Amino acid sequence: MIPSELTESVQSLPGIGPGRAELLSRIGVATVGDLLYLPPLRYEDRSEIISIVEAVRRGEGLVAATVHSHDHFPHGGKRVLKITIGDESSRAALVCFGRNFLARSFPPGSEILVFGRFSLRYGEIQSSMFDAQRVKGTPSPTGILPVYPLTEGLSQKAVRLAVGAALKRYLPELEDPLPDEIREMEGLLPLDRALQSIHTPDTTEAPKQALRRLSFEELFLFQLSLARRSMVRKRAVRRPRPERTRRLLETLRSALPFNLTEDQETVLHEIVTDMKKPWPMNRLLHGDVGSGKTLVALLAAVHAVERGEQAALMVPTELLARQHAWNAARLLSPAGVSLALVLGSIRTPVRRALTEALAEGSIDLVVGTHALFSQDIEYANLGLVVIDEQHRFGVDQREAIVERGPAPDVLLMSATPIPRSLALTAFGESDISTITTLPPGRKPVETHLARMGNETRVYEFIRRELAAGRQAYFVYPAIEEGGVRGLRSATDMAETLADYFQGHTVGLVHSRMDPDVRSETMRRFNDGAVDVLVATSVVEVGVDVPNATCMVVEHAELFGLAALHQLRGRVGRGPHQAYCFLVYQEPLTDEGKERLRVLYQSHDGFFIAEEDLRIRGPGDMFGTKQAGFLPLRIADIQRDMDLMIRGRTHIARILTDDPDLQQPQHLPARRAVGITDQENQ
Ligand code: ADP
Ligand code: MG
Repeated sequence: MIPSELTESVQSLPGIGPGRAELLSRIGVATVGDLLYLPPLRYEDRSEIISIVEAVRRGEGLVAATVHSHDHFPHGGKRVLKITIGDESSRAALVCFGRNFLARSFPPGSEILVFGRFSLRYGEIQSSMFDAQRVKGTPSPTGILPVYPLTEGLSQKAVRLAVGAALKRYLPELEDPLPDEIREMEGLLPLDRALQSIHTPDTTEAPKQALRRLSFEELFLFQLSLARRSMVRKRAVRRPRPERTRRLLETLRSALPFNLTEDQETVLHEIVTDMKKPWPMNRLLHGDVGSGKTLVALLAAVHAVERGEQAALMVPTELLARQHAWNAARLLSPAGVSLALVLGSIRTPVRRALTEALAEGSIDLVVGTHALFSQDIEYANLGLVVIDEQHRFGVDQREAIVERGPAPDVLLMSATPIPRSLALTAFGESDISTITTLPPGRKPVETHLARMGNETRVYEFIRRELAAGRQAYFVYPAIEEGGVRGLRSATDMAETLADYFQGHTVGLVHSRMDPDVRSETMRRFNDGAVDVLVATSVVEVGVDVPNATCMVVEHAELFGLAALHQLRGRVGRGPHQAYCFLVYQEPLTDEGKERLRVLYQSHDGFFIAEEDLRIRGPGDMFGTKQAGFLPLRIADIQRDMDLMIRGRTHIARILTDDPDLQQPQHLPARRAVGITDQENQ
């Protein structure tokens, strides 16, 4: 989402050939725009010469000094050069690991200018991260230098030169995508000044304003393009909305053994209302683990079916697909809904029968993995696609589906809540349905932390639960030991635990098993024939066995917050008190400690999601990067929430006045979000 004239390859810049371009692509820079919009990680303040003592105080700095002497000391079987320098304030040692050649460049008595990190070590002031040059006459400072992300073979200097070349060539004629009026109202810098200042700031404060301007622009254009896309969708793709031919939804609802929660009622109403509109639905349904999202999705599917459309429920794993198919069959088959399960592993003859049935419309609801949208599968009348655990699918996979046939309604579900800020980047306020409450009677899962080495007490506790007729999960980060010493794996522990829990049946499931064996084990766990299920995180999602009261996660320190919360959500689904034991191995990183603390203290998935965002940053949260939630390079969704909201307000106003962005002041923005004239037809 950057100005369209910047889509040329970096190779168009002087001094950048295929080799350099390859290296740049590894830090995510392919085009000139990528380069111009590459935010420095930090800056080196070389704008003033400071004393050695001051450089220690600041941690780093530019120092003018005289070389006093050279020494060597042994290190790792080699001799390392140490250059002692000094100014009026102090002496310091430049430790030249692997750079003994510097002796020649800086002989004793020479005057040098050094930029580096200085700190007190071994009773003296040292720097081992520095660069230096000899000076003749009065040394002069060089300014404030940006520090960019690097990759092996790519030097800081090379990136700085490339950025410099791009600024020189493109800045003079760059078009500012932000309308002047908005820029002035928001007190933001013009684009050229912002780019200049982010890469070559005059003061250490200057990049802040530049960053703010560029973040605003990024969030503005991103949201503008979403808003436009949704407008175009509503305008262009009208679908026939058939009348109901059967009365299924009401029948089914009254047959449920329980009442829907208030939130379930609300979101079901939101979904069905969308499904009656002339344009296709694109809605996010999120709520905590166990809040009853799947049930709502099945009821939405029933609404599609009762008006003669087909519905597809897509999930990320075969395990989950089978689980959902069982549940759907239990609930819907008695009402006469015809169901099918489509998996990648289905063999040809069966598959052919399936594809035929789908193509002629004799199957109402189909549950499956991404195999649901393989080339050979056609739908007679696909009305609704539900994508469960949507973050597990790439944007490409999701788009491939939407492109199939006459735009179906799409309902995206997330296994755990998504922080509001994130949800809002990809969906409009009115396209988000949220379930905040759990079905009644759920007791919170009791959570305990145990250090590895103390887990016998945990195992003893489980033994008593098993004796009382309950079941337990044991989850491990790896399938097999795989060379990592001291790492417990599901396969090894399945044996250990089978010994330990004599008289009880222990089953093992993981992703590399024959799917039939795995599904048989799952079924036996469901039926209570298997008491202890040892698994990798494949049980993370969807599995629903109310009699299982214990979740033991070993090496809990290696799982993410969302995954742990998901795992804990596997228990506490029945009438008995449930327990979660997080067994961790020391030493814990600060982040690891923080994660376990959050989980220990809270059961609220919405809170945990916000904490996850805070601890990890949005980068890898729920795989949001891959899921295309946040194609942001400069803005930080938490830091810049206010900019995002302000941007939205402007967008709403602009699109009301000028929905196709045809007024002259909106043309640059229009070009930046890549609207073609065709789209407006
Ligand atoms: P989610 O997909 O949000 O994790 P599920 O739809 O799998 O949650 O529901 C979890 C469990 O709660 C299931 O066993 C489901 O049958 C049950 N359930 C769903 N809604 C209700 C309700 N309103 N009252 C009681 N139990 C419910
Ligand atoms: Mg679910």
